[in-house]
Amino acid sequence: MESIIELKNVSKTYKVGGTEFKVLDNINLTITKGENIAITGRSGSGKSTLMNLICGIDRASSGTITVFGNEISSYSEKQLTAWRGSNAGIVFQFFQLLPTLSIVDNILLPMDFLRRIPQANRRSRAIELLRMTGIESHAKKYPVQLSGGEQQRAAIARALANNPEFIAADEPTGNLDSANSEIVKEIFKNLNKEGKTIVTITHEQVNPGDYDEVICLADGKIINQYAY
Ligand code: ADP
Ligand code: MG
Repeated sequence: MESIIELKNVSKTYKVGGTEFKVLDNINLTITKGENIAITGRSGSGKSTLMNLICGIDRASSGTITVFGNEISSYSEKQLTAWRGSNAGIVFQFFQLLPTLSIVDNILLPMDFLRRIPQANRRSRAIELLRMTGIESHAKKYPVQLSGGEQQRAAIARALANNPEFIAADEPTGNLDSANSEIVKEIFKNLNKEGKTIVTITHEQVNPGDYDEVICLADGKIINQYAY
């Protein structure tokens, strides 16, 4: 199996008022292509910090992070932004859609930014992604006009806009009711079946049958790792 994400001896320290807090402590982790993995742990255990490192949103204090053979831990900010735009589809707990753009324009934005998908194909691709997440009929609405579940489905469509190799989602169902949570989990499962590598961060109890691997964090350390 091809390993696509590899963390070696990764630590992250925050300095607050002269005091150092180690929020990730010597993490070693390998994620293989096509895996559907969950990273769990209580609030404050370091899950979001870990996701931000994997996605190149933040930097490790020490250790190396390699994604698709690129050692992103040595990248400049500019390289990281470019790398992230073309390789990582990121979904946040609070959706983070741009409120001044319609739903379809929110999906177009990453395509217009990266310019990998030919301009003539972008709108039809955006509509196709909205169809896949079941909210095509809301394409012309603004984020505020959608329910939380619909906004999260729009955010998933946006994460897929540039057809990234892997998708990372930080508490994607944290603000959804159970019906919408199930819909979102189902979308991720289907994406995984199509071959996407998926990393889902959650503080919720996970159903092992939903994932290939579950990693549990506590106080910045991996305390448990189950592969199924
Ligand atoms: P989780 O997502 O599991 O709730 P986080 O990764 O957000 O945990 O945070 C882990 C720890 O790091 C927490 O104790 C948090 O307060 C701390 N932390 C997160 N971001 C910062 C920051 N920018 N500065 C200082 N401490 C931070
Ligand atoms: Mg978090």
